[in-house]
Amino acid sequence: MNKAELTTNIDGISVSPHNFINGRRVASKDCFEVRSPLDWTRKLAEVSRSDEAIAHDAVSAAVEGFKHWSSFSTSRRVEVLYRLADLIDANVAKISTIECLDMAMLHESLRLRVIPRGALNFRAYADLVAEHTERSWHSKGTANRVIRDAAGPAVVITPWNAPFMLATWKVAPALAAGNSVILKPAEWAPLSASMLADFINEAGFPEGAFNVVQGLGSEVGASLVADPRVRRISFTGSPATAQHIGVAAARNIVPFTAELGGKGPLIVFADADIDGAAKKAAAQFEDSGQVCLAGTRLLVERAVKQEFMDRFSSYTDQHVFGDSREPATTLSPAIHPIHLERVEGFVERARQAGDKIIFGGARYDPEKLWYKPTLIEPKSNQSEVVQKEIFGPVLTLQTFDSEEQAVELANSTAYGLSGIVYTSSSARASRIGRAVRAGTVWVNSFLIRDLSAPFGGYGISGIGREGGDYSLDFHSDLKTLQILEDSVS
Ligand code: ADP
Repeated sequence: MNKAELTTNIDGISVSPHNFINGRRVASKDCFEVRSPLDWTRKLAEVSRSDEAIAHDAVSAAVEGFKHWSSFSTSRRVEVLYRLADLIDANVAKISTIECLDMAMLHESLRLRVIPRGALNFRAYADLVAEHTERSWHSKGTANRVIRDAAGPAVVITPWNAPFMLATWKVAPALAAGNSVILKPAEWAPLSASMLADFINEAGFPEGAFNVVQGLGSEVGASLVADPRVRRISFTGSPATAQHIGVAAARNIVPFTAELGGKGPLIVFADADIDGAAKKAAAQFEDSGQVCLAGTRLLVERAVKQEFMDRFSSYTDQHVFGDSREPATTLSPAIHPIHLERVEGFVERARQAGDKIIFGGARYDPEKLWYKPTLIEPKSNQSEVVQKEIFGPVLTLQTFDSEEQAVELANSTAYGLSGIVYTSSSARASRIGRAVRAGTVWVNSFLIRDLSAPFGGYGISGIGREGGDYSLDFHSDLKTLQILEDSVS
């Protein structure tokens, strides 16, 4: 098969919808189709639907690639990671175009924020390994050192929301630690992973250090995580899939991290900047609510409910739905008709159960994938829309009268990925920040990320932490080397 047959042209950009194994494009026998949420009649590509044999080949490539990549000196590794970051920066426009067509996130935010974060992820981890000093100390007549050994091939499984950024967030520490990687992107938004492979190829990684396997999660994803040669698994997706992966990881005694979504509270105290809080609450509708960190449960102190609602409704009315490529658009469509039907199912069941739909609750056009910003006042805290992750532009509104009640409501779901608190009191910020059980709590802000901070969830929001040294430790086998001091010279 020649190179041209292995790539497809999308709006003038050449993209491979196939696997990338051992530094080469490999097409699978079967394919699946990807369409654009911006226009569901538009087919973007026929993507490789890989099987167990391809998974096996990819892991074999990663086993060999690991030998070469892990033997690179730290400074050489850092150089290659930096070159990759530069290539991402140079191609932000192309990646943003493909990502926007593939999964419909707003083009402006992709171009200005989300895709450049991909480059930052590689730089941040390059810097961390460059700056790393081994811990060393003397005790009981011995000299001790803690050594990070690269662990081996790592499987990285990513979801369809912000796929490029999330892939780089997970691939960067794995590569920086010296592991080889097999990336399995989500079948609903697989194209930007293939672009990452192109840049990795160009940056000078050895063959097999980075591989992409395209296909369905239940097929090739399951084969990858079951392979005993894989030594780390880093996953972002649903709790149900994490249970399958956890079983496979347990069989092979392989550490895995899982980031599994959330049901974040956005708590507004009466002493807060109500306008700022209302504006941020209305911003939760962006990206069609397909954001795991979103504050989807609005918890508002009763005394300011009316003021909050007036401002929140007015900011929500300012949203513009439309083509995600247009700069004026603020509301993008759902990723896929099946996903939108799930979102509609939640709202329909809420309606039938007696929850109050305050606004929204319908598509803009029954033939298309844009869903109106929706606010629901639940009948009780046990309502399904309060307890389950919807992953759509659907928020719930509840009120509280005291800090204790706010915390109780905030901590009343099985999730615990994130929380947002609005207050002007620093004592309260600290009290509530500590009391909310979630991996990240923002006070008077949202989505400001420090890449060295730990990231992950409490409860069913996940297992393990990624970010900074937490990721590098995860991707390493830590060794204590102890030498009896007077025994060597
Ligand atoms: P979502 O509900 O957000 O689509 P999933 O957990 O279904 O989340 O998918 C997240 C990622 O997990 C995707 O890349 C998908 O292909 C993959 N996946 C799904 N099922 C499995 C499985 N059994 N084993 C490994 N990966 C899987």
